[in-house]
Amino acid sequence: MGLIVAKFGGTSVASPERIQMVAKRLISIREAGNDVVAVVSAMGKTTDELVGLAAALNDKPPAREMDRLLSTGEQVSMTLTAMAIESFGYRAMSFSGSQAGIETDTEHAKAKITLVHADRIKQALARGVIPVVAGFQGIDGRGDITTLGRGGSDTTAVAVAWGIGADACEIYSDVDGIYTADPRVVPHAHKLAAISYDDMLELSSAGAGVLQARAVEFARKYHVVIHARSSFSDAEGTLIKEADPSMEQAVISGIAHDTSEVKVTIRDVPDQSGVAAKVFSALASNSVNVDMIIQNISEKGHTDLTFTCPGADLPSAREVVERVLPRIHAREYAVDESIAKVSIVGTGMKSSPGVAAKAFSALADNNVNILLISTSPIRLSVVVSASQVELAVRCLHTAFGLDSDIVFEEKMLSAEELAAKENKGR
Ligand code: ADP
Ligand code: ASP
Ligand code: MG
Repeated sequence: MGLIVAKFGGTSVASPERIQMVAKRLISIREAGNDVVAVVSAMGKTTDELVGLAAALNDKPPAREMDRLLSTGEQVSMTLTAMAIESFGYRAMSFSGSQAGIETDTEHAKAKITLVHADRIKQALARGVIPVVAGFQGIDGRGDITTLGRGGSDTTAVAVAWGIGADACEIYSDVDGIYTADPRVVPHAHKLAAISYDDMLELSSAGAGVLQARAVEFARKYHVVIHARSSFSDAEGTLIKEADPSMEQAVISGIAHDTSEVKVTIRDVPDQSGVAAKVFSALASNSVNVDMIIQNISEKGHTDLTFTCPGADLPSAREVVERVLPRIHAREYAVDESIAKVSIVGTGMKSSPGVAAKAFSALADNNVNILLISTSPIRLSVVVSASQVELAVRCLHTAFGLDSDIVFEEKMLSAEELAAKENKGR
């Protein structure tokens, strides 16, 4: 008998029918002789809708109110999931983040989990109840509700698995595992049987939204093995765990892309020491998360300074740059929102020269123009125009020999298939 945490994302709980499927899946885990704790995301696009409602009323909604608002999405799905389980004759109890004992720091919208007091979950399990925990949220030391950043229910699942000492942390979504690229962009991507924490963390940080980077970081730190798998099939998914010799020994583990960043260029900056310090200190103290930085070669004592940051940070970045511009005697700045970052990731890159040359040739052969480049020992990232992102990901995937003969098939069930499955279950 095992103790399993099973997390279901937004698509998996998008409708009453899907919530029933989740309830049945939880019950089947129980029937197989395990104890199970569910973690759920908000239904479908609920979080985006709540963000839209807030934006309709306030350009800069107060962070505390925003977190309070967004946390309600998961609180709806947790109660509905508990009700669905009860309707099948099993006992269930929902817990918001604070009720589940998930404590965080005070950073609204990107809070970090500091502690998990899992007593109530454990007590529920001991009474034969299936606990259903709201993902994406916790409570800070002042008693305020916080959220963990987009995709944060993954982190809740890993933290709960750690807090209760679970044997497995299963993350169910609309794909049946981790692929060498987003299979919706590269239908020839192939599914990995296993991937190391380090490679997965790099892919997630580079924009592979399939798992939140924080969840992978947490799992690596506390040795929680994640099994990423499909809500709509029983297929084995991908294990995310410590590297071992049985894993594919490829130079490149995968390709990630991220369309959420923007590019800001400050023009005609005097080429003097201290200028970059002024700009980036001001950005940092306003919590703008700067990613890539590039400074052009100086011409007549002036240069251009370019950086990228998340689109969500753009309003703050604009404010900061407008304030700093006269202080550094720069002329003007420009923003490009139609960019995308494409990253080639692999811990195997460390000991394999020629990755950059191969990547640049593949992009050139396909007429993809590179706007910015950055490298680390295990990642090569290029910024391209948003209109070329899919082409860039596909041609790099092919160039690095990652294409599979099997074409990714959308596993999401149609309404008819769902109804058929429902009737079979009765
Ligand atoms: P959930 O709502 O269940 O948390 P997400 O939408 O956050 O699910 O994550 C699943 C999506 O991640 C997939 O639909 C897929 O398009 C995308 N994705 C991006 N990169 C990858 C990858 N390397 N492997 C698998 N899926 C990926
Ligand atoms: N509902 C939140 C989001 O959409 C958290 C999650 O789904 O993991 O980002
Ligand atoms: Mg997600």
